[in-house]
Amino acid sequence: MDLIAGIDRKLDALASQSLIRRLRVADSPCAPRQVVDGRDMLAFCSNDYLGLASHPAVIAALQEGAERYGAGSGASHLVSGHSRAHALLEERFGAWMTPHVPQARALYLCTGYMANLAVLTALGADADAMIFSEALNHASLIDGARLAKAGVSVYPHGDVAALEQQLIASTAATKIVVTDSVFSMDGNLAPLPGLLALCERHGAWLVVDDAHGFGVLGATGRGALEHFGLHSPNLVYIGTLGKAAGVGGAFIAAHGSVIELLVQRARPYIYTTAAPPALAHALQASLDIIEGEEGKRRRAHLAALVDHLRDALRPQRWQLPPSTTAIQPVIIGSNEEALRVAASLHEQGLWVPAIRPPTVAAGTARLRVTLSAAHTHEEVALLARALNELERATA
Ligand code: PMP
Repeated sequence: MDLIAGIDRKLDALASQSLIRRLRVADSPCAPRQVVDGRDMLAFCSNDYLGLASHPAVIAALQEGAERYGAGSGASHLVSGHSRAHALLEERFGAWMTPHVPQARALYLCTGYMANLAVLTALGADADAMIFSEALNHASLIDGARLAKAGVSVYPHGDVAALEQQLIASTAATKIVVTDSVFSMDGNLAPLPGLLALCERHGAWLVVDDAHGFGVLGATGRGALEHFGLHSPNLVYIGTLGKAAGVGGAFIAAHGSVIELLVQRARPYIYTTAAPPALAHALQASLDIIEGEEGKRRRAHLAALVDHLRDALRPQRWQLPPSTTAIQPVIIGSNEEALRVAASLHEQGLWVPAIRPPTVAAGTARLRVTLSAAHTHEEVALLARALNELERATA
């Protein structure tokens, strides 16, 4: 019982700081209108930015994939789990990324979390390497850097000049700069053109985690590299596929030699059962939508919803950071107030999560509003009205 009492003390400490997180159970597919814990809700919290998670064509492709390839892969990629569905998807991603990385090849991994661990542990495998990590990077990049044998140096958010000083001062044999493209709790973009120019000048890799950009940014949805028109052998790109692509997993795209090193060395690729091939098959349907006219239409609608929300919100005390992406945080400050506001929204049938430390810095607890092309303008207007009224009511 002493063991359990020790755990309960830790949980009590979290509760006393308003840091206990609660699991909610969704009883219907991921979509703006959901049944959650048995109740009808309007959700503004998924990363299903294009509304593809419950798209009929993607669901049909998932069913077809299961019939064609079975339910599971049965083994890791290098043993016997690498199916034609994986190979075809990787070929397509390689071709997609060729305008951005010469001799591009791609690898499909089970999750974005694992893809980030794979890249950083393989590129940063030696003690004489150094990982330069952006201050607001996602937890999976932080964990990847911790697992790597390389040293780690954190550079201030968005600060290209400070990063340059760190690169100049470093004597590391291998330099790896790593950044989110779209910051997951703020929605702003990393200055990728400046970062890439710096990396090329200093012979460093630029690892870009485009979890929130893939599918959304760029004329054909190919993400941040397309958005900024970047091309370089120094680029290593990670696109996650459980967000805008609506399915799951992630791909890494880089020069063929980098990808071959990952196949040989990246433990999160080698030592895990390959994702069910049906997922890879379903993703082909997502990619068809993303790169076609429907994808273009969905991105345009999403952009209009973002403008609508920003025009309609009138924060007095709360802050609306300058984000043009589907991630629209409303910064409230204290954990308690953020929780109270999220609870009041919940009572009105609006599902918007309160994000607290350690996910964000202390004193910057926020509502993380995410929009999807599946939302309507009426739904966005409803949320804006509720937020404006709540801020006035809690003043
Ligand atoms: N990178 C970023 C920036 C993320 O926000 C996330 C997921 N929240 C991931 C990586 C991990 O991706 P996945 O959910 O596919 O593991």
